[in-house]
Amino acid sequence: MKPQNFYKTIVQSIYEGVYLVDTDRRIIFWNKGAERMSGYTAEEVIGRYCYDNILNHIDEDGNHLCENGCYLCETIKDAQVRDMCVYLHHKEGYRVPVSARSIPIYEEGKVIGAVEVFEDDTINRQMLKTLEDLKYLALNDELTGLANRRYIDTFLDSKANEYRTLGIPFGIAFIDIDHFRHFNNQYGHDMGDEVLKMVAKTFRSMVRNVDLTGRWGGEEFLIVFVGAEQESLYAIAEKIRSMVERSSVTKDGNTLNVTVSIGITDYRHEDTVDSALKRADNLLYDAKSAGRNKVVAG
Ligand code: GH3
Ligand code: MG
Ligand code: MG
Repeated sequence: MKPQNFYKTIVQSIYEGVYLVDTDRRIIFWNKGAERMSGYTAEEVIGRYCYDNILNHIDEDGNHLCENGCYLCETIKDAQVRDMCVYLHHKEGYRVPVSARSIPIYEEGKVIGAVEVFEDDTINRQMLKTLEDLKYLALNDELTGLANRRYIDTFLDSKANEYRTLGIPFGIAFIDIDHFRHFNNQYGHDMGDEVLKMVAKTFRSMVRNVDLTGRWGGEEFLIVFVGAEQESLYAIAEKIRSMVERSSVTKDGNTLNVTVSIGITDYRHEDTVDSALKRADNLLYDAKSAGRNKVVAG
Protein backbone atom coordinates (compact mmCIF):
# COMPACT_ATOMS: atom_id res chain seq x y z
CA MET A 1 0.00 0.00 0.00
CA LYS A 2 1.27 3.49 -0.83
CA PRO A 3 1.76 5.65 2.28
CA GLN A 4 -0.63 8.29 0.86
CA ASN A 5 -3.45 5.72 0.70
CA PHE A 6 -2.66 4.61 4.21
CA TYR A 7 -2.91 8.17 5.59
CA LYS A 8 -6.01 8.91 3.54
CA THR A 9 -7.75 5.82 4.93
CA ILE A 10 -6.94 6.90 8.48
CA VAL A 11 -8.18 10.46 7.97
CA GLN A 12 -11.31 9.17 6.23
CA SER A 13 -12.16 6.75 9.01
CA ILE A 14 -11.64 8.90 12.13
CA TYR A 15 -14.74 10.13 13.86
CA GLU A 16 -13.82 13.83 13.71
CA GLY A 17 -14.55 16.01 10.73
CA VAL A 18 -11.45 16.90 8.73
CA TYR A 19 -11.16 19.19 5.71
CA LEU A 20 -8.38 20.87 3.93
CA VAL A 21 -8.27 24.24 2.15
CA ASP A 22 -5.60 25.76 -0.05
CA THR A 23 -4.35 29.33 0.39
CA ASP A 24 -7.41 30.63 -1.54
CA ARG A 25 -9.58 28.75 0.99
CA ARG A 26 -10.77 26.33 -1.69
CA ILE A 27 -11.78 23.02 -0.17
CA ILE A 28 -9.60 20.23 -1.51
CA PHE A 29 -10.40 17.42 0.91
CA TRP A 30 -13.50 16.57 2.95
CA ASN A 31 -13.63 13.41 5.05
CA LYS A 32 -16.50 11.13 6.11
CA GLY A 33 -16.71 12.74 9.56
CA ALA A 34 -17.22 16.16 7.94
CA GLU A 35 -19.93 14.61 5.73
CA ARG A 36 -21.67 13.12 8.75
CA MET A 37 -21.59 16.29 10.85
CA SER A 38 -22.42 18.82 8.14
CA GLY A 39 -24.73 16.77 5.90
CA TYR A 40 -22.66 17.82 2.83
CA THR A 41 -20.97 15.11 0.79
CA ALA A 42 -17.39 15.48 -0.45
CA GLU A 43 -18.69 15.88 -4.05
CA GLU A 44 -20.85 18.78 -2.97
CA VAL A 45 -18.05 20.75 -1.36
CA ILE A 46 -14.74 19.88 -2.96
CA GLY A 47 -13.71 22.68 -5.30
CA ARG A 48 -15.94 25.20 -3.54
CA TYR A 49 -14.59 27.92 -1.24
CA CYS A 50 -15.09 27.57 2.46
CA TYR A 51 -16.71 31.04 2.54
CA ASP A 52 -19.23 29.89 -0.13
CA ASN A 53 -22.02 29.75 2.39
CA ILE A 54 -21.47 26.07 3.01
CA LEU A 55 -20.28 25.79 6.58
CA ASN A 56 -21.07 29.40 7.33
CA HIS A 57 -19.48 29.29 10.81
CA ILE A 58 -20.83 31.62 13.46
CA ASP A 59 -19.56 32.21 16.97
CA GLU A 60 -21.66 32.24 20.15
CA ASP A 61 -22.65 35.87 19.54
CA GLY A 62 -23.88 35.10 16.04
CA ASN A 63 -20.94 36.80 14.25
CA HIS A 64 -20.33 35.35 10.78
CA LEU A 65 -16.75 34.12 10.93
CA CYS A 66 -16.36 33.28 7.25
CA GLU A 67 -16.79 36.95 6.31
CA ASN A 68 -14.96 38.41 9.25
CA GLY A 69 -12.70 36.41 11.50
CA CYS A 70 -12.07 33.24 9.48
CA TYR A 71 -9.57 31.32 11.55
CA LEU A 72 -8.40 29.22 8.60
CA CYS A 73 -7.39 32.52 6.94
CA GLU A 74 -5.56 33.60 10.06
CA THR A 75 -3.79 30.26 10.31
CA ILE A 76 -2.74 30.48 6.66
CA LYS A 77 -1.41 34.00 7.33
CA ASP A 78 0.51 33.44 10.56
CA ALA A 79 0.98 29.63 10.62
CA GLN A 80 -0.45 29.44 14.16
CA VAL A 81 -2.72 26.64 15.40
CA ARG A 82 -6.10 27.91 16.63
CA ASP A 83 -8.79 26.35 18.81
CA MET A 84 -12.32 27.63 18.59
CA CYS A 85 -15.84 26.81 19.69
CA VAL A 86 -18.17 27.61 16.79
CA TYR A 87 -21.52 26.69 15.32
CA LEU A 88 -21.45 25.26 11.83
CA HIS A 89 -24.34 25.24 9.43
CA HIS A 90 -25.81 21.82 8.71
CA LYS A 91 -27.10 21.25 5.20
CA GLU A 92 -30.62 20.91 6.66
CA GLY A 93 -30.37 24.40 8.12
CA TYR A 94 -29.80 23.85 11.81
CA ARG A 95 -26.68 24.77 13.75
CA VAL A 96 -24.21 22.24 15.15
CA PRO A 97 -21.91 23.33 17.99
CA VAL A 98 -18.37 22.12 17.29
CA SER A 99 -14.92 22.37 18.81
CA ALA A 100 -12.63 23.17 15.92
CA ARG A 101 -8.89 23.39 15.45
CA SER A 102 -7.13 24.94 12.46
CA ILE A 103 -3.63 23.74 11.63
CA PRO A 104 -1.26 25.06 8.92
CA ILE A 105 -0.09 22.70 6.17
CA TYR A 106 3.48 23.13 4.94
CA GLU A 107 5.23 22.18 1.76
CA GLU A 108 8.93 22.87 1.48
CA GLY A 109 8.77 25.20 4.45
CA LYS A 110 5.91 27.30 3.02
CA VAL A 111 2.31 27.33 4.21
CA ILE A 112 0.19 25.98 1.36
CA GLY A 113 -3.11 25.73 3.14
CA ALA A 114 -4.78 24.77 6.38
CA VAL A 115 -6.63 21.82 7.78
CA GLU A 116 -9.59 22.05 10.09
CA VAL A 117 -10.38 19.23 12.49
CA PHE A 118 -13.72 19.51 14.22
CA GLU A 119 -15.90 17.45 16.50
CA ASP A 120 -19.52 17.66 17.50
CA ASP A 121 -19.72 19.41 20.85
CA THR A 122 -23.48 18.95 21.41
CA ILE A 123 -23.14 16.33 24.15
CA ASN A 124 -20.35 18.20 25.97
CA ARG A 125 -22.32 21.41 25.95
CA GLN A 126 -25.50 19.63 27.07
CA MET A 127 -23.55 18.05 29.92
CA LEU A 128 -22.10 21.41 30.95
CA LYS A 129 -25.58 22.93 30.92
CA THR A 130 -26.93 20.02 33.01
CA LEU A 131 -24.05 20.43 35.46
CA GLU A 132 -24.78 24.14 35.76
CA ASP A 133 -28.48 23.42 36.35
CA LEU A 134 -27.63 20.80 39.00
CA LYS A 135 -25.20 23.15 40.71
CA TYR A 136 -27.88 25.82 40.76
CA LEU A 137 -30.43 23.39 42.24
CA ALA A 138 -27.93 22.17 44.84
CA LEU A 139 -27.12 25.68 46.04
CA ASN A 140 -30.26 27.74 45.53
CA ASP A 141 -33.68 27.85 47.05
CA GLU A 142 -36.31 26.88 44.50
CA LEU A 143 -38.98 29.42 45.48
CA THR A 144 -36.90 32.58 45.83
CA GLY A 145 -33.73 31.73 43.89
CA LEU A 146 -31.67 32.88 46.88
CA ALA A 147 -28.78 30.85 48.30
CA ASN A 148 -30.02 27.84 50.26
CA ARG A 149 -28.86 26.70 53.67
CA ARG A 150 -26.04 24.55 52.23
CA TYR A 151 -24.70 27.49 50.23
CA ILE A 152 -24.96 29.81 53.23
CA ASP A 153 -23.02 27.35 55.43
CA THR A 154 -20.20 27.06 52.89
CA PHE A 155 -20.10 30.83 52.37
CA LEU A 156 -19.95 31.51 56.12
CA ASP A 157 -17.12 29.01 56.56
CA SER A 158 -15.11 30.70 53.84
CA LYS A 159 -15.78 34.20 55.26
CA ALA A 160 -14.77 33.03 58.76
CA ASN A 161 -11.57 31.73 57.22
CA GLU A 162 -10.89 35.03 55.45
CA TYR A 163 -11.54 36.85 58.72
CA ARG A 164 -8.93 34.73 60.52
CA THR A 165 -6.29 34.83 57.80
CA LEU A 166 -6.83 38.25 56.20
CA GLY A 167 -8.79 40.15 58.85
CA ILE A 168 -11.69 40.93 56.49
CA PRO A 169 -14.67 41.79 58.71
CA PHE A 170 -18.22 40.66 58.00
CA GLY A 171 -21.66 40.91 59.54
CA ILE A 172 -24.53 38.45 59.77
CA ALA A 173 -28.19 39.46 59.73
CA PHE A 174 -30.94 37.04 60.72
CA ILE A 175 -34.27 38.19 59.33
CA ASP A 176 -37.72 36.78 60.08
CA ILE A 177 -41.07 37.87 58.65
CA ASP A 178 -43.45 39.10 61.36
CA HIS A 179 -46.73 37.27 62.00
CA PHE A 180 -46.36 35.29 58.82
CA ARG A 181 -48.58 32.47 60.03
CA HIS A 182 -51.35 35.00 60.39
CA PHE A 183 -50.65 36.37 56.89
CA ASN A 184 -50.92 32.86 55.40
CA ASN A 185 -54.12 32.17 57.29
CA GLN A 186 -55.67 35.39 56.10
CA TYR A 187 -54.55 35.51 52.45
CA GLY A 188 -53.58 31.93 51.65
CA HIS A 189 -50.35 30.03 51.27
CA ASP A 190 -49.88 31.02 47.61
CA MET A 191 -50.04 34.69 48.52
CA GLY A 192 -47.56 33.90 51.31
CA ASP A 193 -45.22 32.48 48.65
CA GLU A 194 -45.59 35.67 46.61
CA VAL A 195 -44.56 37.65 49.68
CA LEU A 196 -41.50 35.44 50.21
CA LYS A 197 -40.45 36.10 46.61
CA MET A 198 -41.08 39.83 46.91
CA VAL A 199 -39.11 40.08 50.17
CA ALA A 200 -36.24 38.08 48.62
CA LYS A 201 -36.15 40.50 45.66
CA THR A 202 -36.11 43.45 48.03
CA PHE A 203 -33.14 42.03 49.92
CA ARG A 204 -31.29 41.30 46.70
CA SER A 205 -31.81 44.82 45.43
CA MET A 206 -30.31 46.25 48.61
CA VAL A 207 -27.11 44.27 48.98
CA ARG A 208 -23.89 44.44 47.00
CA ASN A 209 -22.69 41.63 44.75
CA VAL A 210 -20.07 40.55 47.28
CA ASP A 211 -22.71 40.00 49.97
CA LEU A 212 -24.76 36.84 50.21
CA THR A 213 -28.51 36.71 50.65
CA GLY A 214 -29.97 33.34 51.53
CA ARG A 215 -33.13 31.65 52.66
CA TRP A 216 -32.36 29.96 55.96
CA GLY A 217 -35.70 28.12 55.93
CA GLY A 218 -39.43 28.90 56.02
CA GLU A 219 -39.80 32.67 56.38
CA GLU A 220 -36.31 33.19 57.79
CA PHE A 221 -33.51 34.76 55.78
CA LEU A 222 -29.87 35.43 56.36
CA ILE A 223 -27.65 38.08 54.82
CA VAL A 224 -23.85 38.11 55.08
CA PHE A 225 -22.38 41.60 54.67
CA VAL A 226 -18.80 41.20 53.53
CA GLY A 227 -16.29 43.86 54.59
CA ALA A 228 -18.83 45.61 56.81
CA GLU A 229 -17.52 47.03 60.10
CA GLN A 230 -19.55 46.62 63.26
CA GLU A 231 -20.54 50.34 63.46
CA SER A 232 -22.19 50.29 60.03
CA LEU A 233 -24.34 47.18 60.57
CA TYR A 234 -27.32 48.72 62.32
CA ALA A 235 -27.80 51.33 59.59
CA ILE A 236 -27.61 48.71 56.82
CA ALA A 237 -30.19 46.50 58.52
CA GLU A 238 -32.45 49.43 59.29
CA LYS A 239 -32.52 50.39 55.58
CA ILE A 240 -33.54 46.85 54.71
CA ARG A 241 -36.24 46.71 57.39
CA SER A 242 -37.66 50.03 56.22
CA MET A 243 -37.58 49.00 52.55
CA VAL A 244 -39.55 45.81 53.25
CA GLU A 245 -42.12 47.84 55.19
CA ARG A 246 -42.56 50.02 52.09
CA SER A 247 -42.77 47.10 49.62
CA SER A 248 -45.93 45.20 48.78
CA VAL A 249 -47.72 42.60 46.69
CA THR A 250 -51.20 43.07 45.27
CA LYS A 251 -54.15 40.73 45.47
CA ASP A 252 -57.56 41.50 43.98
CA GLY A 253 -56.59 45.15 43.82
CA ASN A 254 -55.54 45.18 47.48
CA THR A 255 -52.01 46.12 48.48
CA LEU A 256 -50.58 43.72 51.03
CA ASN A 257 -47.37 44.10 52.92
CA VAL A 258 -45.40 42.52 55.72
CA THR A 259 -42.72 43.66 58.11
CA VAL A 260 -39.54 41.95 59.23
CA SER A 261 -37.54 41.77 62.44
CA ILE A 262 -33.76 41.69 62.18
CA GLY A 263 -30.95 40.62 64.51
CA ILE A 264 -27.53 41.70 63.25
CA THR A 265 -24.02 41.17 64.55
CA ASP A 266 -20.39 41.29 63.46
CA TYR A 267 -18.11 38.25 63.40
CA ARG A 268 -15.54 38.44 66.22
CA HIS A 269 -12.14 37.00 67.20
CA GLU A 270 -13.58 34.57 69.72
CA ASP A 271 -16.39 33.45 67.36
CA THR A 272 -17.09 30.27 65.49
CA VAL A 273 -19.70 30.38 62.74
CA ASP A 274 -22.13 28.70 65.15
CA SER A 275 -21.57 31.19 67.99
CA ALA A 276 -22.01 34.17 65.64
CA LEU A 277 -25.21 32.65 64.21
CA LYS A 278 -26.53 31.98 67.70
CA ARG A 279 -25.88 35.62 68.71
CA ALA A 280 -27.65 36.92 65.58
CA ASP A 281 -30.58 34.58 66.32
CA ASN A 282 -30.82 35.83 69.94
CA LEU A 283 -30.76 39.44 68.71
CA LEU A 284 -33.59 38.57 66.32
CA TYR A 285 -35.52 37.17 69.26
CA ASP A 286 -34.90 40.48 71.10
CA ALA A 287 -36.26 42.38 68.07
CA LYS A 288 -39.42 40.23 68.18
CA SER A 289 -39.78 40.79 71.94
CA ALA A 290 -39.34 44.54 71.45
CA GLY A 291 -42.53 44.57 69.36
CA ARG A 292 -41.40 43.32 65.87
CA ASN A 293 -40.62 45.44 62.76
CA LYS A 294 -37.36 46.31 64.54
CA VAL A 295 -33.61 45.92 64.17
CA VAL A 296 -31.47 44.93 67.15
CA ALA A 297 -27.70 45.01 66.66
CA GLY A 298 -25.19 43.61 69.09
P1 GH3 B 1 -43.29 35.78 64.30
O1 GH3 B 1 -43.62 37.21 64.12
O2 GH3 B 1 -43.05 35.43 65.74
O3 GH3 B 1 -42.16 35.35 63.45
O4 GH3 B 1 -44.58 34.96 63.87
P2 GH3 B 1 -44.73 34.00 62.63
O5 GH3 B 1 -46.17 33.69 62.48
O6 GH3 B 1 -44.08 34.56 61.45
O7 GH3 B 1 -43.85 32.80 63.10
P3 GH3 B 1 -43.97 31.27 63.04
O8 GH3 B 1 -42.59 30.70 63.05
O9 GH3 B 1 -44.92 30.81 64.12
O10 GH3 B 1 -44.62 30.94 61.64
C1 GH3 B 1 -43.89 30.89 60.47
C2 GH3 B 1 -44.86 30.64 59.38
O11 GH3 B 1 -44.21 30.74 58.12
C3 GH3 B 1 -45.47 29.27 59.43
C4 GH3 B 1 -45.61 28.86 58.00
O12 GH3 B 1 -46.94 28.76 57.63
C5 GH3 B 1 -44.99 30.00 57.23
N1 GH3 B 1 -44.12 29.49 56.18
C6 GH3 B 1 -42.94 28.85 56.30
N2 GH3 B 1 -42.46 28.51 55.09
C7 GH3 B 1 -43.36 28.96 54.17
C8 GH3 B 1 -43.43 28.90 52.75
O13 GH3 B 1 -42.57 28.37 52.05
N3 GH3 B 1 -44.51 29.48 52.16
C9 GH3 B 1 -45.48 30.08 52.88
N4 GH3 B 1 -46.49 30.64 52.24
N5 GH3 B 1 -45.45 30.12 54.22
C10 GH3 B 1 -44.41 29.58 54.88
MG1 MG C 1 -39.84 32.05 61.93
MG1 MG D 1 -41.98 34.85 61.53
